[in-house]
Amino acid sequence: MRTPLIAGNWKMNGSAELVEEFGRAFTGTTLPAPLDVVILPPFPYLDAARRAFDGTSLRLGAQTLNPLHSGARTGEVSGRMLKEFGVEFALAGHSERRQLYREDDAAVHDRLLAALNADITPILCVGETLEERDAGKTMEVVLRQVGYVMARLEPDQRTRVIIAYEPVWAIGTGRTATPKQAQEVMAAIREYQAGFDRELAAGLRLLYGGSMNAGNAAELLAQPDIDGGLVGGASLKADDFLAICQSAG
Ligand code: PEP
Repeated sequence: MRTPLIAGNWKMNGSAELVEEFGRAFTGTTLPAPLDVVILPPFPYLDAARRAFDGTSLRLGAQTLNPLHSGARTGEVSGRMLKEFGVEFALAGHSERRQLYREDDAAVHDRLLAALNADITPILCVGETLEERDAGKTMEVVLRQVGYVMARLEPDQRTRVIIAYEPVWAIGTGRTATPKQAQEVMAAIREYQAGFDRELAAGLRLLYGGSMNAGNAAELLAQPDIDGGLVGGASLKADDFLAICQSAG
């Protein structure tokens, strides 16, 4: 009932050559169906990616966006601009944005709303730090991050949001949450959404992120509340990323 989704977040990595490599690797490749596959390259590669991915199953995403449509915001990019380049998905609240660029829940909400207003599907990223997990605060932190945004959306907007649970301690560390740990939090997120609307909760797409790779993807994706993955490091090699996509069948 829920279409699985595998998204590759290149962060500030990649090159024009990598874009071409992905275009070649996904040309004529049979993937499990149904499956959405998204690549989120750095902004400068979006246009080349749109051309290189044409005719493949790869779709385009953005790693962030500015809440405004246009204006005096040096260095920023708006949802309207991203849409012009074929972007269909955008992250809001990635932990690197929360930590390094001090984006709090309000800033995350503004970005997510900007994505919705530009007709881009937002992927809301949430997750606890190691200190928060050790202090037994995982659910409190994650549900606060989810709740802040969801409570401020209209019912029809809520149905368009994808949520990625990414424990901060698992991102880029090689340390993956166990399938049981991930499943526990994902089930709690879905249950929380059921408080708004049971149908919404049943249709909500939930991704796991945090050192997912070709070796651990199948077990994570087999969990009942995990509908896909947000992949960082392992999305920088076409073969590895392809193998993760194949696990989503
Ligand atoms: C991410 O940046 O969203 C991520 C999950 O990274 P990694 O897979 O490298 O842990």
